[in-house]
Amino acid sequence: MSTPSPSRRVYLDYNSTTPLHPEALEAMLPYLGESFGNPSSAHAAGRKARAGIERARESVAALLGASPQEIFFCSGGTEADNMAIKGAAWNRPQDGNWRIVTSAVEHSAVLKTAAHLSNNGYRLHVAKADEFGVVDVADVAAAVDDRTAVISVMHSNNEVGTIQPVREIAEIAWSRGVLLHTDAVQSAGKVPLDAYELGVDALSISAHKLYGPKGVGALYLRRGVKLHPLLTGGGHERGVRAGTENVPGIIGFGKACEIAAKKMADEAARLSALRDELQRRILAAVPSARLNGHPEKRLPNTLNMRLAPGAAEAVMIRLDLANVAVSAGSACASGAIEPSHVLTALGLSSEEASGSLRFSLGMENTAQDVDYVVETLQKILKGTGTAII
Ligand SMILES: *Cc1c(COP(=O)(O)O)cnc(C)c1O
Repeated sequence: MSTPSPSRRVYLDYNSTTPLHPEALEAMLPYLGESFGNPSSAHAAGRKARAGIERARESVAALLGASPQEIFFCSGGTEADNMAIKGAAWNRPQDGNWRIVTSAVEHSAVLKTAAHLSNNGYRLHVAKADEFGVVDVADVAAAVDDRTAVISVMHSNNEVGTIQPVREIAEIAWSRGVLLHTDAVQSAGKVPLDAYELGVDALSISAHKLYGPKGVGALYLRRGVKLHPLLTGGGHERGVRAGTENVPGIIGFGKACEIAAKKMADEAARLSALRDELQRRILAAVPSARLNGHPEKRLPNTLNMRLAPGAAEAVMIRLDLANVAVSAGSACASGAIEPSHVLTALGLSSEEASGSLRFSLGMENTAQDVDYVVETLQKILKGTGTAII
């Protein structure tokens, strides 16, 4: 393989995290410096921080079609998911009678939380998904009864990008009077979201997936919905989430939401065109490649393909050496890559799952990036002998 041009770096892992938008950074800087007040303090420094948080709350709410009183800041997507699922479960007795209903394609923040509850006094039903990664609505409907504490089904999948029938699931939830949560971390800023239209009671988002800083997120809670709090302490976030707010993080999150609201439609069109071109050219270069996930009901920036049976990790490492960042399944804490539970839920064998790569596009990607990635990928696949060309 020829030496890559050292100047070209192609980041195609925006579903893992995004760079901080320069305007979000700029908005944060005063709050890391002179505007350091505690938002719970009544003096001028405190009031300044409080005003910043409340402006950010309006920006986050606007992105979700919600009202600011329905937005509760926390440390990110994982915490928001835990707040909703544990908070709803703990509203009910831990007597083995109450059930959690979720799906096989959820992020670990949901699946492991549900599994934890199932070991601690709750029953669990994990609904299946079809070959495209769409959650089986009938399976959800059959599992929900009047002893269901919460249904949690994601808005879009982080690995394959499939967009889920959340509104249909909401209709099931309403008919049974069950609380519905959706993890919309991957959707926020990429596709329009309207919490009222979706009909959910709770919805999680995370700043660092939409060009905001890491370590901050929010839970939308429909007016009137009460959760048992995870954290107790001072009455921050109106008693829903105790702890002094991450002021600079929240300010950056608010700015990122404002930018996303303005740019979303154009950026979705631009990225889906680039993504479709990448998909078309990979399929042309590697005829044995197959798309994972839904071909249409999919996030505009996400492409997941099986293209190197059993060898995605090796290909990912070679792409990294050529300055291309992609994802080959989720790395666990040890750094080892396990076959993805999402891909196996779609019916892929472990050989197919560990032969799949995710390309997730974003702000900095261009048509030249697509050229470079396809060219580099072809060289790598020829070199490793994994492609049938
Ligand atoms: C990234 C992600 C999370 C976790 O969010 P953090 O802010 O990193 O804790 C949860 N759900 C989905 C779908 C994600 O993509």
